[in-house]
Amino acid sequence: DEAAKDFVASNPTSKATNDTASCSLPGGTTRNVVHMKPFPVVLAMGEGSYLTDVDGHKYLDLCAEYSACMFGHSHPVIKRAIHDAVEQGFALGGVNRYEGRLAKLFCDRFKTMDKVRFSNSGTETNMTALALIKAYTGRSKIIVFEGGYHGGLATFTSQSSMNMKSSGKKTMNAPHDWVVVPYNDIPALEAAVSENKADLACIFLELMQGSSGCTPADVDFVEACRSLATGADAVLFFDEVMTSRMSVHGYQDILSVYPDMTSLGKYFAGGGQNFGAFGGKAEIVDMLEPGFSGGGGGVYHSGTFNNNVTTMVTATAVLEEVWTEGEACELFEKGVWLRDKLNDLATRRKSRMYVTGTGSLMAVHFREIEIAIDDGSKLQARAEDLKELFFFDMLKRGVFLARRLMISLMTITSREELQTFLNAVDEFLCERAEFV
Ligand code: PLP
Repeated sequence: DEAAKDFVASNPTSKATNDTASCSLPGGTTRNVVHMKPFPVVLAMGEGSYLTDVDGHKYLDLCAEYSACMFGHSHPVIKRAIHDAVEQGFALGGVNRYEGRLAKLFCDRFKTMDKVRFSNSGTETNMTALALIKAYTGRSKIIVFEGGYHGGLATFTSQSSMNMKSSGKKTMNAPHDWVVVPYNDIPALEAAVSENKADLACIFLELMQGSSGCTPADVDFVEACRSLATGADAVLFFDEVMTSRMSVHGYQDILSVYPDMTSLGKYFAGGGQNFGAFGGKAEIVDMLEPGFSGGGGGVYHSGTFNNNVTTMVTATAVLEEVWTEGEACELFEKGVWLRDKLNDLATRRKSRMYVTGTGSLMAVHFREIEIAIDDGSKLQARAEDLKELFFFDMLKRGVFLARRLMISLMTITSREELQTFLNAVDEFLCERAEFV
């Protein structure tokens, strides 16, 4: 409460802006995930690894637009690419010379992508790919996992979508024939596959569940997904919208388990453009063949902005000039370094805090405990409340995090800058030692 009061007092312009916006936008925003109580910080500007809000506070940005702004704000190559595209006309209305070149770059990088198609977001990409997979297999059941997040139309979040869970809100999932199975649970998966075998279109998973708290998949679980999908003649589909950042060839290449289809999104268009892509085996993706020149795959896929010029040009610049093998290794190692440091700090301070994740994506958690209070009763110090306290405390100390405490590192953020975050966490753990 005290942290929230402090927040209200020091953010009058954010409050006023949100109040005005709320008259025409439910909650003052068009993305529930960025909303928070008592009101969200309204951001004004991003530069390098920092954000500034409308009240003039400057923050080290550890949210990085939920993984989309992975190269930092206003990266010079990305700015130049957008500018060049704008100069050449950005809504051509036909096939353009950029989309084929970009598709080849993706197919060269992802060995499981014989062919690829583009869309406008991770959500749209997943929905389109699932419809395609259902058409390809002629089946309807889709195995997904508890805690999985595949966009606003496919959310199976168990624990961390705090806004949703604590308010008892329903998800707005597409009406697919979902079969929801516990994550990392091979016997449960085997049972679900066996029960649904005749009508199983695909097994659909994140290699690390990001939104629900950065829980990596066990390798033997991913291997089981692979062999069970093959055994059932179903498609194995990896949602790598977030995890692909673990290497230039995706997290699948680190785990050495390969899917039939993969979806991508977020950072590939530099954070400045909407982006989504799905690709995989030619025999599946070729079903989208338009067919005017003979052939014809039988499934129609279109969208005004699928080949948007600024997106195509920006993503090409990202793949050709920005997202190199060296950058990917360095980012991964920086994430391992930060997570280890945070967990060391938590151990040293005997804290309930712990950090999960892999590479440059991680999430801060607190263990649930009961605290004895003076009158002999016990106070349930809920992990969720501590997450809130951590969030507001970090804001006060100049660190911007996703409200659910997911950290998504940027390539340009230095270890010195991350050390300022580590110092802030240490101060927090010391000052709030009785709770955390
Ligand atoms: N899939 C995963 C794994 C995601 O984390 C997200 C977004 O966070 C999506 C899909 C949806 O992407 P978008 O927000 O671009 O629709």
